[in-house]
Amino acid sequence: MRCSFVGLGAMGAPMARLLAARGLLVAVWNRTAAKAQDLAAELQVAAPADLAELAALSDLVFVCVSADADVRAVIAALRPGLRAGSIVVDTSTVSMQTATDVAADLATIGVDFLDAPLTGGVEGARLGRLSVMVGGEQAVLDRAQSAFAAFALRVTRMGAVGAGQATKAVNQVMIGGIAEGVCEALAFGEALGLPRESLLAVLTAGAANSWFLEKRGLSMLEGRFDSGFKLALLHKDLGIVQAMAAQLGASLPSVNAAHTDYGKLLGEGRGDDEISSLIRIKRRLFGQPS
Ligand code: NAP
Repeated sequence: MRCSFVGLGAMGAPMARLLAARGLLVAVWNRTAAKAQDLAAELQVAAPADLAELAALSDLVFVCVSADADVRAVIAALRPGLRAGSIVVDTSTVSMQTATDVAADLATIGVDFLDAPLTGGVEGARLGRLSVMVGGEQAVLDRAQSAFAAFALRVTRMGAVGAGQATKAVNQVMIGGIAEGVCEALAFGEALGLPRESLLAVLTAGAANSWFLEKRGLSMLEGRFDSGFKLALLHKDLGIVQAMAAQLGASLPSVNAAHTDYGKLLGEGRGDDEISSLIRIKRRLFGQPS
């Protein structure tokens, strides 16, 4: 299985490294070409300038870019180089519509598609401990399994194309709600003057613990928001969830609250901050500087 990787951001670069460690990676591509050239030199793989050229080198192309329009543009550029029987796996978080549109288009040239969004954060991507939610044919997933095994602890087929993105939307309802709860609670703890280390130690040992509290509790209290999951991306995800809920005739209060708060931070130019930067908004509830 000759794999290539498109989109070498916070998630894509470590996943590409893990594929290379298993001898599965043949080529990489990134919009900012210098990142692809540096990683290709490190991993001793190709870095073609042209996406169609990368596609022609590959049996399986992984994509991990920011948003819907980016996935559509990348796959349109790969298309001329893709051969019948090859597989495109999109690990980005986008709408179900993008997944089904792209899959239908690729099917006309005999190329298989899986939507395979991820959860587990940048730490999971570095350590090969991601959980992947897959939409698409079981037979296609079976062919891709050995490649997924390079970076995933768990790979779960959720149904036909689009079901991976639907599952990721469910995940993001929880991610937004947990961030709201944890950031609000820690700002409250600060306002009460509680000692930081003891607060985190007691909370992470109990029923209020979460991945987010464990991995981001200390860094947010120390004002470090420079690595992890960019809040602009969660804002995008929450917009996708809102549109999906609206199609079901529903409006989700916790999602709406998180979308509004992250929208404020985006408006303040903080889109590249980690999502724990939400504590800035929560500190303001207590009249504290953010
Ligand atoms: P990131 O660090 O911001 O990287 C984004 C990548 O997308 C970069 O390689 C960027 O290229 C590329 N890109 C953006 N627009 C593009 C376009 N129009 N054409 C081609 N490439 C384009 O983001 P990330 O954290 O890796 O996230 C990537 C995806 O995974 C997103 O959909 C995100 O929601 C999802 N995700 C993220 C996490 C997380 O914890 N970070 C977890 C699960 C899922 P440049 O280098 O040129 O900017």
